[in-house]
Amino acid sequence: MSKRPCIVVIGSLVFDFVAKAQRLPRKGETILGEMFGMFPGGKGANQAVQASRLGAEVFLIGRVGDDFLGERLLADLKESGVSAEFVKRDPTVKTAACCIHVDAEGHNAIVIVPEANMACSKRDVDAAKSVLQSADMVLCQLEVYLPTVEYAITLAAECGVPVILNPAPAQPLPAALYSKVTVLTPNETEAELLTGSAAEGAASPGQSSWESLAARKLLSFGPKTVIITLGERGAYLADKTWEHLIPTFPVSVVDATAAGDAFSGALAVALAEGKEMEQAVTFANAAGALATTRNGAQPSMALRAEVEEFLRKFHHGK
Ligand code: ADP
Repeated sequence: MSKRPCIVVIGSLVFDFVAKAQRLPRKGETILGEMFGMFPGGKGANQAVQASRLGAEVFLIGRVGDDFLGERLLADLKESGVSAEFVKRDPTVKTAACCIHVDAEGHNAIVIVPEANMACSKRDVDAAKSVLQSADMVLCQLEVYLPTVEYAITLAAECGVPVILNPAPAQPLPAALYSKVTVLTPNETEAELLTGSAAEGAASPGQSSWESLAARKLLSFGPKTVIITLGERGAYLADKTWEHLIPTFPVSVVDATAAGDAFSGALAVALAEGKEMEQAVTFANAAGALATTRNGAQPSMALRAEVEEFLRKFHHGK
């Protein structure tokens, strides 16, 4: 594909406040920390930024409050080349914020206040209807009001626009939604919740692996393709005729935050460009792996040239 693919993301924008200390505070306790940072986040915005850095034309549909945090999030999106034309500034709600406490071992305790993300409505989707219906790909997660996500997926499916649903954070989904989804991209925890099966005690010799069983169960719900992301092991790709583990690349992990967002954003670009599914998953694995080598969510999303150079080096090095 010579023209830039057009990707519409329906999703969240969240302002992350991160405080690091030796340990997490106990109930009622105040402790001194060692680092504080403020970062743009939200699964929708993260995936939109990844897709844009990989060369797609990206429109984000979402909501922020008419406040300082919203202003900053919109400015960061624009800097990454994402169109914020369809992100509504709503004076009746506050921009979503997230307080993250991290201890010396990297364990965290998180409070997210979704506010504006839960106010994202069908009317916000309608405002972007013509762009959505002529897009090469629609990309959704579950951090905004679920009926709005359902509505956007239905509109896309009616027009034959392929849909990637990253079902994160995991929650039970209406049965009718699955068959409108082209590619479902849960991680292990999400696949476990959606299938109701535990990942532990999975494969015994000669039996199907847990991910194979989970992927087949998810396929029976209706999506055309299921890709379960498996962290450092890569991604398990399954459709009705074929299933396979596509390994990722060895990297020195610094911070695994938003690896899944990098994966889904990159997968959307690769598929919208017309890449075969297996090749697209390899591309998404590379973006996911690169995201773990840097701190933060949006700052860790790689540029197109970086992913291509990474893939070239890896294949030459083999
Ligand atoms: P999530 O961030 O949603 O939990 P995963 O941890 O499964 O998702 O990561 C998503 C993708 O990022 C993986 O499928 C893989 O491609 C890549 N990835 C994650 N962790 C690593 C790692 N340690 N080494 C290499 N690639 C990784």
